Amino acid sequence: MERLDFGKMGYGCKHYRRRCKIRAPCCNEVFECRHCHNEATSMLRKIFDRHELIRQDVTQVICSVCDTEQPVAHVCTNCGVNMGEYFCEVCKFYDDDIDKGQFHCDDCGICRVGGRENFFHCNKCDSCYSVSLRNNHSCVEDSMRHHCPICYEFLFDSLKDTTVMKCGHTMHTECYHEMIKRDKYCCPICSRSTLDMTKAWKRMDEEVGLNIYSPRVHLIIELLACLVNFFMDDFCFIRILKLLLF
Ligand SMILES: [Zn+2]
Ligand SMILES: [Zn+2]
Ligand SMILES: [Zn+2]
Ligand SMILES: [Zn+2]
Ligand SMILES: [Zn+2]
Ligand SMILES: [Zn+2]
Ligand SMILES: [Zn+2]
Ligand SMILES: [Zn+2]
Repeated sequence: MERLDFGKMGYGCKHYRRRCKIRAPCCNEVFECRHCHNEATSMLRKIFDRHELIRQDVTQVICSVCDTEQPVAHVCTNCGVNMGEYFCEVCKFYDDDIDKGQFHCDDCGICRVGGRENFFHCNKCDSCYSVSLRNNHSCVEDSMRHHCPICYEFLFDSLKDTTVMKCGHTMHTECYHEMIKRDKYCCPICSRSTLDMTKAWKRMDEEVGLNIYSPRVHLIIELLACLVNFFMDDFCFIRILKLLLF
């Protein structure tokens, strides 16, 4: 039992604590992890040499404790340590730091972090989302299988948190906040407002002192709400409404 834990948290790279290295099936070289491989190969001078490692294709690992190369397995066949406290046989993924709450989603086909109990797999979006979004988001087919519109990292297996906007499109949470900070309030993909319109109406009510339930105002709001979804953010919406009414 103790042997399994030997060296736990003592090895790894800046991405993962783990007790093995991987032999990349694509270029036959040894790397600490998939991300180390991708970082190294993305810097290669010749553009055609650049490539990403396909995690499921890894077949050989090298135990960091005893340096023995061997087929992918949880326990080192030579020295008997767990090469990672968490091990996924599908992703050939090892991690000693189990506080991250790693779990494998069969539908996504990859390992995720954050605790299985905190996520559900949305079949329409075909990705895992936080349980708070269950029955509470607009589904967009393959919503996560694209690049973040701000930083262009592929979202589906990104290690960073993701925000689902009201329109159902997704981007990194930190990129979303950065965008809001710069006073940009519409989705960069479909231009719909990222803000909840009921909040905007309430704010307008306070700012302009309008009774938003009067029939005339209501009609204008309805009309503008259609437009706003396609062309503008709700600050622009308030500005136009003020112009129209006063
Ligand atoms: Zn490679
Ligand atoms: Zn690494
Ligand atoms: Zn070993
Ligand atoms: Zn996995
Ligand atoms: Zn999933
Ligand atoms: Zn969905
Ligand atoms: Zn991003
Ligand atoms: Zn959108």
